Amino acid sequence: MKIHFWGGADTVTGSQHILECSDSLVLRDCGMFQGKREEAERINRTLPFRPDSLAAMELSHAHIDHCGNIPTLCARGYSGPIWATYPTVDLAPVMVRDSARIQEQDAAYLNQKTNRKGLPPVEPLYTIDEAEKCIRQFRPNPLHKPLDIAPGITVTTYEAGHILGSAISRYRLHENGREVHVGFTIDFGRKNLPLIRDPEMMPPVDVLVSESTYGDRLHGPAIDASKQLGDIIARTFARGGKVLIPAFALERAQEIIYHINALYLQGTLPKLNVYVDSPMAAAVTKIFDENDAGFDDDYKKLKAELGCMLSPPWVKYVGTGEESKAVTATLGPHIVIAASGMCEHGRILHHLKAGVGDPRNSVVIVGYQAENTLGRRLVDGERQIKIFGDQHDVKAEFANLDAFSAHADRNELLAYFRILRPKKIVLVHGETKQRAALAAAIRDEKIADVFLPKRGDTLEL
Ligand SMILES: [Zn+2]
Repeated sequence: MKIHFWGGADTVTGSQHILECSDSLVLRDCGMFQGKREEAERINRTLPFRPDSLAAMELSHAHIDHCGNIPTLCARGYSGPIWATYPTVDLAPVMVRDSARIQEQDAAYLNQKTNRKGLPPVEPLYTIDEAEKCIRQFRPNPLHKPLDIAPGITVTTYEAGHILGSAISRYRLHENGREVHVGFTIDFGRKNLPLIRDPEMMPPVDVLVSESTYGDRLHGPAIDASKQLGDIIARTFARGGKVLIPAFALERAQEIIYHINALYLQGTLPKLNVYVDSPMAAAVTKIFDENDAGFDDDYKKLKAELGCMLSPPWVKYVGTGEESKAVTATLGPHIVIAASGMCEHGRILHHLKAGVGDPRNSVVIVGYQAENTLGRRLVDGERQIKIFGDQHDVKAEFANLDAFSAHADRNELLAYFRILRPKKIVLVHGETKQRAALAAAIRDEKIADVFLPKRGDTLEL
C-alpha cells in the first residue's frame, strides 16, 4: 500500500496523487500545473505514469489546478470512470471546456509567429474535442456514501467547504488482511464562507494528506474583508473610478457578487453597475442557481429575500468580446469582475491594461496568487507591470483582501489536525516556506509525524 505524489506536492498547482493497493491504482485529481510557461508546458505534457494502468480516478473539486489536465489523461489512454460529487460533475466540464478553448487559442496565436519563422507548428496541450471526450467519463458520487472505487480501495467523501461541490476523501485500503485509512483534505476550506457549507470532520485516519497553502498565515475574519471591500468601493466611486477585481470564474466571482449584493442591500453604497466580464463566470453562476442543495442557510435566506442572489438588476453578465471592449471603454464609477483570477490571461488583462494607470481606479485582489504570475507581482508590490508586452505604471489604489480566501489558514488547519489526530500528516499543496512553517507547528505540538514529499516521492503505508 503506497501513495505516489506526482503533482501539487511542493507547489500549489497541478495536484496529482496516486493511491496503490492490491495492484490497483487510483488517481486523485489531475490538475494543471501553472507557473513559468516552459516549465508548465513540460510538466503538463509529460504524465509521469501510464494512464491505462489506473483502475479509477476521483476528482476533489472543479478548480483547474485539480481537474485541468484530465483531457490529457484521457487522450493518453485513461478510459475509466472519473468520480466526483454532483455539483463537480456539472462544474468541471465548464472548466475543462474553457481550458481547451484557451489551449487552442494559445497554440493558434503561437503558430502565427512560428509560421513566419518557418518553425514546426505548436500543438495545443489538448483540444476541445479531447475535452468533450473526457467529460463523458464523469460519474456522480454523493457525499457520505462508501464507494468501492477499485479492488482493495473504498472511498467515502465529505464536505470540504472550499467551493461548491468540493469534497475531502477518506480511503479504506485493505490488502492481505491489513487495513489502512488515509484521508485527503485537499483543497480544504473554512467555516462561515458565504454560499457554501462548512468543512466536515471525517472519521479517524492513520495518515492524513493535507494542503498547506496558508501554512504560516492567519486570515482576518471574512466579515472584515467585506467591510474593507465596501470601503474601497465607496472611495473609488467617490473618485469616479472603476473597481477592478480579478477573480476565478468559479466560486470566487460568485462570492464577490454575493458580498457586493449584501453591501448594496445595506444601503450605504449607490447600486452602480457590476460587470461580470467572464462568460465562464456566467455559466458557473447558472449552475449555482440550479444547485440549491450544496449551499448554506444564509445563502438561502438572502436568495429568498432578493429572488435571485447572483443576478440582481445591477449585476450585468458580459457576453461577447465586443461587449467586453464596450465595458473597457465605459467611464466609471462601476465595478468589473473578470477572470483569470491570477491575471495570467483572459479579459482582466484588457481591463488592467486600460485601468491600472488611472489613480481614480482600484485593483482589488481577492484570491491566492501563485508564484510567477502577474497577480503575484502586484501583491509583491511591483508598481511597473508588463501586460501584452508593454510596461504599465500602477497608479490605481491597490488592495489585497486575503480574508476572502477559500483555503483554511494555519490555525484552522491545526485545529482540524488536533481533533483528527492521525499518526502521520503528509503536507502537500504549499510553497516551501508555508509547508515548513506548518510542519514545525505540528511537530512542536507533537500532533503527528510529518512527511513533506517532493514531486515523484512515494510513501509506503
Ligand atoms: Zn481549489
